[in-house]
Parts: sequence; structure tokens; C-alpha cells
Amino acid sequence: MNHTVKTIGLIGGMSWESSMLYYQIINETVKARKGGHHSAKCLLYSVDFQEIKDLQHQGNWDEAARIMAESAQKLEAGGADVIVICTNTMHKLAPEVMNAISVPLLHIADATARRIADDQLKKVALLGTAFTMEQPFYKDRLTGKFGLEVVVPEAADRAAVHDIIYHELCLGIINERSKKKYLDIIDGLARKGAEAVILGCTEIAMLISQEDCDIPVYDTTRLHAEAAVEFALG
Ligand code: GLU
Repeated sequence: MNHTVKTIGLIGGMSWESSMLYYQIINETVKARKGGHHSAKCLLYSVDFQEIKDLQHQGNWDEAARIMAESAQKLEAGGADVIVICTNTMHKLAPEVMNAISVPLLHIADATARRIADDQLKKVALLGTAFTMEQPFYKDRLTGKFGLEVVVPEAADRAAVHDIIYHELCLGIINERSKKKYLDIIDGLARKGAEAVILGCTEIAMLISQEDCDIPVYDTTRLHAEAAVEFALG
């Protein structure tokens, strides 16, 4: 038995479609590193996404913060050594979550930006919900902490990206037309000088993969899940 392996606490359900990917990637990564029948020690606290989605769209971030903080505390009480919020958007509330717990929070933007910085890229396109693309909480972290230059789609395209996330991907719906739309938007941003694209929503990898794109793709779900394993195994 290895007592130094840490327990990962996942706040999931936003949507559960992407939490499934986290669970899969985390376990596959542990298996790849340790072999045999090794798998991850982890806890998942999965919220009701309808409640969260309603609070987001009403702008009731105080209540959403209360739910996120309480979820993190439940995971810590259950033995989690680190907290992972399985969505980019809800990192808007990362400060409130961090204040509520005494274990570390692994920030999804840090996990992603570190890899981009390692690859020595500077100008990146960011796709995600309107909250993630338009509000400062995510972009400012990429620029302020990692010196990246961030470009986002035009307003109409941001709306399309946002709607496809909530009306399709979070419901497990994969649509070829939506894929084409995303690829066109990525092409447009690449023409504006983006050297890479951040899939800044944890469901986008259900629709787009590296082989679809001419520029490097940074999938936040995978990078965040891998960072969690790195933390757990050391
Ligand atoms: N999973 C998505 C994200 O990474 C969107 C769902 C949510 O609003 O949390 O932002």
C-alpha cells in the first residue's frame, strides 16, 4: 500500500457529461503511470446542473458560490487532499471556494496555461461559455499570471459557442453542424494570429479534437485531470 498517494476531490455535474471524462482521464493517467490495476483515489461530489445553470443565468453568483463552497467542504471532510472544480465557468468562484477550505484548489486555467507556456506559445484563442470568454476571471489569469495574449470570437460567434455548450454539449448532443461552426470560428481566430486554441469549456472535447484543427488544441478537461493526477502521485 502506498500511503503517500493523495485523494482527489472532484466537484462535478457541470455537466456530468464532462465529469465522466474527468473520471476516465484521471484513472487512465494513473494506470499509465503506475500500471497493473492501479486507479485513482478520488471522491466526486456531483451537483444538480439545472440549479447551477439557473443561478448562472440569473446572475445569482452568491448562491452559486455558497453551493460550490459547501461542495468543496464536503469533499474535504470526506478526505480529499485537493479540490478540482470540473468546469471552467465555475472558476469564477475559485476565490470563494479557496476561502472555504484548507486543502489546495487546482485551478483549471493554471493547469492549461502552464502547458501553453511550456510550449512557448503566446497568443491563444479562448472558446468557452460567455461567462468564460467575456468576464475577466479567466482571461485575466491567463494574461496576468502567464503573460498570454487571449483572443475571443466576435459577439455573434460567442453567442453560438455559448448556446452550443448549454443546448447541446451539456445534454450529450453531438451535432456535425455545430462542429463545423466551431471549426470555422477557430479558423477565423487562427487567421487573426492565434497560435493555439484553448477548449475552455470542459465539454468541448466531445466535439473537437486535435485532428480537426490546424493549430494546437489545449483541452482544459484533459490538462486539468492530468494536473490532478500529478498532484496526487507527485
Ligand atoms: N463545463 C462548462 C465549462 O467548463 C460549462 C458548464 C458550466 O457552466 O459549468 O465552463
